[in-house]
Amino acid sequence: MTGLDPDNWDDLRSLGHRMVDDMIDRLATLRDGPVWRPMPPEIRTALHTDLPAAPTPPEALYDRFRDQIAPYATGNTHPGFMGWVHGGGTGVGMLAELLAGGLNANCGGRDHAPVEIERTVIGWAAEIMGFPADATGVLVTGSSMANMIAVITASRAVADGITLRQRGVGGRQLVGYAAATAHGCIARAFDLAGLGTDALRIIPVDSTHRMDIQALRAAVESDRQQGFEPFIVIGTAGTVDTGSIDDLGAIADIAAQEDIWFHVDGAFGALAMLSRTLRPHLRGLDRADSLAFDFHKWAQVPYDAGCILVREPGRQAAAFAQSLAYLSREDRGLAGNAPWFCDLGPDLSRGFRALKVWMTLGTYGTVRLGQMVDECCAVAAHLARRVDREPLLERLAPVGLNIVCFRVRVPDVELDWLNGELVKDLHESGIAAPSTTMVGGVKAIRAAIVNHRTVAADVDLMVDAVLRLAQERQGLGQRA
Ligand SMILES: *Cc1c(COP(=O)(O)O)cnc(C)c1O
Repeated sequence: MTGLDPDNWDDLRSLGHRMVDDMIDRLATLRDGPVWRPMPPEIRTALHTDLPAAPTPPEALYDRFRDQIAPYATGNTHPGFMGWVHGGGTGVGMLAELLAGGLNANCGGRDHAPVEIERTVIGWAAEIMGFPADATGVLVTGSSMANMIAVITASRAVADGITLRQRGVGGRQLVGYAAATAHGCIARAFDLAGLGTDALRIIPVDSTHRMDIQALRAAVESDRQQGFEPFIVIGTAGTVDTGSIDDLGAIADIAAQEDIWFHVDGAFGALAMLSRTLRPHLRGLDRADSLAFDFHKWAQVPYDAGCILVREPGRQAAAFAQSLAYLSREDRGLAGNAPWFCDLGPDLSRGFRALKVWMTLGTYGTVRLGQMVDECCAVAAHLARRVDREPLLERLAPVGLNIVCFRVRVPDVELDWLNGELVKDLHESGIAAPSTTMVGGVKAIRAAIVNHRTVAADVDLMVDAVLRLAQERQGLGQRA
């Protein structure tokens, strides 16, 4: 054999079969193991090996993967994982990664079928979200990147925006707006785009954790009076703390009146468009100029698979395309098939992310995926009812979607500290893994039901464990 290919393909084949069998077994028996387990110090040390100068048989590396890596993964495939916003992945998504790795396609551009699959997936995304069929878009790492692409695209859509690409924002005082509940990646997008985080005006939220629309209106007016150039307003469909959805229709109205780009960060919540019952809550999303969301969250596609959609054809390319001799597009041959995905974002080389999205949407179909989204919300509603019934628990926010924020409330103890410790105890118990956040100034235990494997019994196990751990800490058992 030549190059790096093996002398014996059958050895590689049997290793591959073993890997596939083991990983399918793992997915089939997730419930038997803990959600997460702390990594013993000797394992952590063992993972830090020297740069290998000499070869190691892949079988030996696979043994290390099986023994030292797989048992200590994040845990988001497990039904007890409720922290942050993590999708659970699927078996077909995993296999799609194998196929994509085998093709090793570079989807930055050129004339090949994987590019057409990405175009198909972007078209499907536009259809799901109610965007026009000629909307442009690209798959990216995640919503952090997608939101940044949106901020940059919007900043190039202002009057004389194209010269910004050459001269930088310089003296232009471009400003944008998002609610206090917006994800941290929005401020980072302003930072990375060179606009500065001060250029992101933080709009307060009302008692339902949605952007205060009157405050938005006032902020735009005040900025205009002071000579600033409002260029983007960002609504969130599914805030990371509580799952609230900004009034996207009202924001769309203001954006239209003020001639400002309307962007929606729908990282996980936008996929509620798949659900017939939830779609009305997202009214106005289909009027956005751009939308960021993640297939790796609620669509259960394996990491990573974010998506940016831009309504008006040409806008994204105006912000990102370059003309370079070594990337010239031809009328035929492998260098044909313009426009290329590298024209729509900062990446040139890009993997075949589209395949796992295409396989996941194809395997389940949008109807089943919409039901799965509904099922997650039903589990969250079950959890909210359980919390409301437990005298020691206090719910901290309305549950409009799939996120439940609550805390243990007992007398004579610092509650922020207690609830923080309880979540760490829970993680170490291996039973469940919610995360924490601050809601209304207090620390909340936050359960986000994003995993298709999580059922009502799993959130009950989590609540049982929280109560038991709280009693162990408090000696409440004795007092009661
Ligand atoms: C997860 C999330 C993001 C960031 O997305 P990544 O895919 O992690 O980069 C942005 N906004 C919201 C609302 C999110 O939930």
